[in-house]
Amino acid sequence: MPRAVVGIGANLGDRLAAMRAAVRMIEGVARVEARSRVYETAPVGGPAQPTFLNAAVLVAFDGPALDLLDRLLSIEATLGRVRMERWGPRTIDLDLLWIEGVSVDDPRLVVPHPRLRERAFAVRPLLDVVPGALDPVSGEAYAVPPGDLRETDGSLG
Ligand code: ADP
Ligand code: MG
Repeated sequence: MPRAVVGIGANLGDRLAAMRAAVRMIEGVARVEARSRVYETAPVGGPAQPTFLNAAVLVAFDGPALDLLDRLLSIEATLGRVRMERWGPRTIDLDLLWIEGVSVDDPRLVVPHPRLRERAFAVRPLLDVVPGALDPVSGEAYAVPPGDLRETDGSLG
């Protein structure tokens, strides 16, 4: 499998600690090749909720994309994410944002992530870890859309 980018978001509890724990667990299933900066971002959609931290890691994963998704979902479960309402608050959210040169359209997995292009909090970290990343379908370079996003001093460790 080519290189892939996993988006990491959190907006409950010790957000940075949860994100670092997620990166350590991702390291258990894939080779982590780069870490983005950490951004503080306003929630988009859903109910009123705390601000998010968002980041991303570049991984090399040897296997089917659905296997990587399953591993990410089990990491989310382990870190105590409680799914209550769509787009609601969460301890940790792991999204498979992008796979180099690949698009996936499966009932359980759509890559690039369907809302990637419109989400500054996803595109900005993606471009940190893969500057000049291209959309696999159009071949166009991603551009960060307008959005409420602030760089923090935090690091994914
Ligand atoms: P969001 O991340 O858009 O806020 P959720 O995390 O609640 O929404 O959605 C999780 C579900 O989305 C998973 O069960 C998974 O099967 C599905 N899904 C589809 N495409 C992706 C993707 N690219 N990355 C992560 N989950 C995806
Ligand atoms: Mg998700």
